[in-house]
Amino acid sequence: MSVEQVPVQRADFDQVMVPNYAPAAFIPVRGQGSRVWDQSGRELVDFSGGIAVNVLGHAHPALVSALTEQANKLWHVSNVFTNEPALRLAKKLVDATFAERVFFCNSGAEANEAAFKLARRVAHDLYGTEKYEIVAALNSFHGRTLFTVSVGGQPKYSDGFGPKITGITHVPYNDLDALKAAVSDKTCAVVLEPIQGEGGVLPAELAYLQGARKLCDEHNALLVFDEVQSGMGRSGHLFAYMHYGVTPDILSSAKSIGGGFPMAAMLTTEKLAKHLAVGVHGTTYGGNPLACAVGEAVIDVVNTPQVLAGVNAKHDLFKARLEKIGQQYGVFSEVRGMGLLIGCVLTDAWKGKAKEFFNAAEHEGVMILQAGPDVVRFAPSLVVEDADITEGLDRFERAVAKLTKA
Ligand SMILES: *Cc1c(COP(=O)(O)O)cnc(C)c1O
Repeated sequence: MSVEQVPVQRADFDQVMVPNYAPAAFIPVRGQGSRVWDQSGRELVDFSGGIAVNVLGHAHPALVSALTEQANKLWHVSNVFTNEPALRLAKKLVDATFAERVFFCNSGAEANEAAFKLARRVAHDLYGTEKYEIVAALNSFHGRTLFTVSVGGQPKYSDGFGPKITGITHVPYNDLDALKAAVSDKTCAVVLEPIQGEGGVLPAELAYLQGARKLCDEHNALLVFDEVQSGMGRSGHLFAYMHYGVTPDILSSAKSIGGGFPMAAMLTTEKLAKHLAVGVHGTTYGGNPLACAVGEAVIDVVNTPQVLAGVNAKHDLFKARLEKIGQQYGVFSEVRGMGLLIGCVLTDAWKGKAKEFFNAAEHEGVMILQAGPDVVRFAPSLVVEDADITEGLDRFERAVAKLTKA
């Protein structure tokens, strides 16, 4: 028995959906690997990866089988009970990272909410009520709950919702002196993305993260890395902190960790985790068997030398071709990023026009992303085939050629 399906079109969006998104004119209906088909049967190459989420592309056999097997077993029991996929996935994350304890939730914002609450709780328990300040970076993005937009360094996301969460200072990213000036004994946490994603695909400098670690240690503050976008293989390492060799106290992971199934995690040490005692924090869906079964399959595939080495090789393919396109058409001043999170910074002549690149690319049959108005972003599957890279970038070049001729 199947549910009755009434025909729907893009125009219906404006009639029935809250208008907080402006989706593209076509509706994707099917995906396989790095290809997507829309309602009309048109095929597109997917370099957007659901915004750095579809880490193994669409319909990866290992993920489909993990999900369907679990779907026939057990979907949900709540956290009144634990479940086998959650425990197995937590063990895998603990084995693979600095972490000793894991809290599962459903989105990046929730993972960060948990991280920020934990940091404040630890400071409160150990040092009293005066140590609650959070230092974060301008232009950073940490999610859309009130706490996470308040910590995020983009006022356009936090203005207009009444009083913000207070006790948060924002400093320019990659500016160690500014960070030094902002951190004090009242600081409970420094929150950073090792690679600013939404802010324009901007990697941290090594000395900056090392300096942040040192400042935190000097002031009994916790270092929180938001790896919602940079984590789970995207940087070419399982987590970007491993590339830098700078270990946080708390790490948030989402997006790629579920490979397209809603899933997130906050990772931390045993010593800090104990401050989230029974009843202090929670979520109904967090760590449900379906999400964790998929998460297990994701980490099993991603955390292998072949896949991670492949990410770096594919990075080189993208970078070389994008730099060539940038030079030939005078559109990019820099191609930056790590692994398969790549940002093309628009030249002055094209500043503010990333959306035009997105639209032009879509017309040529390739899905890309922007990261703010000035950066064109690529976040494809980590196992995107080299032939798909070539085909997608051919289409992208045609789009750039048309755009610059127009
Ligand atoms: C996407 C993102 C978030 C928010 O994740 P949601 O799942 O949308 O809540 C937080 N931090 C970073 C760095 C992100 O890229």
